[in-house]
Amino acid sequence: MLLQEKTAIVTGGTRGIGFAIVKKFLENGAKVALLGSREETVEKALTKIKEENPDAQVYGYWPNLMNPEEVAEVFAKVRETYGKLDILVNNAGISARDSLYDYKPEDFAKVMDLNLNSVFICAQAAAKIMREQGGGVILNTSSMVSLYGQPAGVGYPASKFAVNGLTRSLARELGKDQIRVNAVAPGVTRTDMVAALPEEMVKRLTASIPLGRAGEPEEVANAFLFLASDMASYVTGEILSVDGAAMT
Ligand code: NAD
Repeated sequence: MLLQEKTAIVTGGTRGIGFAIVKKFLENGAKVALLGSREETVEKALTKIKEENPDAQVYGYWPNLMNPEEVAEVFAKVRETYGKLDILVNNAGISARDSLYDYKPEDFAKVMDLNLNSVFICAQAAAKIMREQGGGVILNTSSMVSLYGQPAGVGYPASKFAVNGLTRSLARELGKDQIRVNAVAPGVTRTDMVAALPEEMVKRLTASIPLGRAGEPEEVANAFLFLASDMASYVTGEILSVDGAAMT
C-alpha cells in the first residue's frame, strides 16, 4: 500500500477524476478528506464510498475554495482530525466553451477563480502546514490543453497554462521545505465534463488520440497515486501527461 499512514485532501472529490483519486488513495491506505462544492454531493459521494468500503477513513467538507479563511479553517480541521496533512490534490475545475466573441468577462473570471485562484489559495494553506511538519506533496490537475491550447473557450486553457506555471514555480520555491509540487495533465477522460461536450466534438477528439480511445478516471488517478507516493520522492516540478499521446 503506497500511501499507508498518509493523509490527503482532494478538492473536487465528489465525482469524475477526483472521486477516482479519493478511492485510489483510500485503497492504498490513506486517510482522505474529500472536498466538494455542496453538502449534498459530498454526502452522496461519502455514502457511495462507505457502501463499498465501510472501514474507509474518509471525511467530507464543502468550503468555498475561493475563500482563504474558509479553506484555512477546513485544512486546520483536517490536520486536527488526522494529526497531519501529507498530500493536497487540487482537482476541482470547470470549463466553458464559448467563442472569444461571445465569452463574457464574468465567465472568464469564474473559470480563473476555480481553476487557478483556488489552486493558489489551497496550496498556500497546505504549504503552511506542510512546512511546519517537515514536508508534503502538492498535486495540481492540469490538462492536455495546457500544452497546445484549444480552438474555443480560451479561459480554460489559459487557466491550465497558469496551473503549469504555478506548479513549476512552487516546486522551485518549496523544495527547501521538502514539499514536492507536481501536476497531472489528463487528456480526454470519461467524466461529466466530457459528457457535457457535443458528441461530434468528443468523436473528433478521440479519433486523433494514438491509443484510439478516451482515458478512464482510474487511469488518471494512477498517475496521482505515483506522484503522491514516496516512489516519486525525487520528482518535483513535473507536468505528467496522461493522454494517450493526444495532440489536439
Ligand atoms: P467533473 O465535472 O466530473 O468534476 C468536477 C469536480 O469539481 C466535481 O467534484 C465538482 O464538485 C468540483 N467543482 C466544480 N465546481 C466547484 C466549485 N465551485 N467549488 C468546488 N468544487 C467544484 O470534472 P472532471 O472531468 O473529473 O475534472 C476534474 C479535473 O480534471 C478538472 O480540474 C479538469 O479541468 C481536469 N481535466 C479533466 C479532463 C477530462 O477530460 N475530463 C481533461 C483534462 C483535465
